[in-house]
Amino acid sequence: MKTSRTTTEILKRLHQLYPETECTLDIDEDPFHLLCRAVLSAQCTDVRVNQVSEVLFAEYPTYEDFLSAGQEKIGEIIKPCGFWKVKSSYLYESAVLLKEQFHGELPKDAQELEKFPGVGRKVANLLVSELFGIPAIVVDTHCMRVSGRLGLSSGKNPATIEKELMKILPEEEWAPFGHRMVDHGRAVCTARAPKCDACLLSDVCPKKGVASKSKGEAVKRSGHSSKKV
Ligand code: SF4
Repeated sequence: MKTSRTTTEILKRLHQLYPETECTLDIDEDPFHLLCRAVLSAQCTDVRVNQVSEVLFAEYPTYEDFLSAGQEKIGEIIKPCGFWKVKSSYLYESAVLLKEQFHGELPKDAQELEKFPGVGRKVANLLVSELFGIPAIVVDTHCMRVSGRLGLSSGKNPATIEKELMKILPEEEWAPFGHRMVDHGRAVCTARAPKCDACLLSDVCPKKGVASKSKGEAVKRSGHSSKKV
């Protein structure tokens, strides 16, 4: 695969800006925990998810403990993450599925992972890349917006954007690129008021100074409504 000079330059600058990038959800020795955190993170901040999940896993450390506790008790703890009724059902049903179909071991395949309730392509990609080191791009709202503004993607939905990015980025960049899109999207290239004047990528960005004037684009591309994440 040949990466264009501009794409290579963008990657270089992103490395410079966010050298130590990583997943902002906590990751521990139990793969099931990351699945739970990712499900809890829908329309909730990662900081809050990390706080709440610490309490949750202190009380119920394993998926078997989830099964013994039941959905209601899980729900009581995860309330601060919002949408606790649906999320607690997802977590409980995930524990059931993990036991009944996967004998307690999380599958290493994104399509298999999408069988878990609340797990869509984005979370499945996060899980395979973070837990099993399989190259995958997590296309979330930041990645959609920032990669679009930078001219690296033009698709309107995560699946298309993922394919576009996979074509132009080297495999080893897929996972860290997704994290760096989140870093840049939070710190500089925000949805409504991107700080183009302070952006290290401004000279290679076709949307420099334009993105903030196009409110519709910002709001539309930052939309987050799917149930599966
Ligand atoms: S120049 Fe502006 S629109 Fe382009 S990446 Fe930087 S902040 Fe975003």
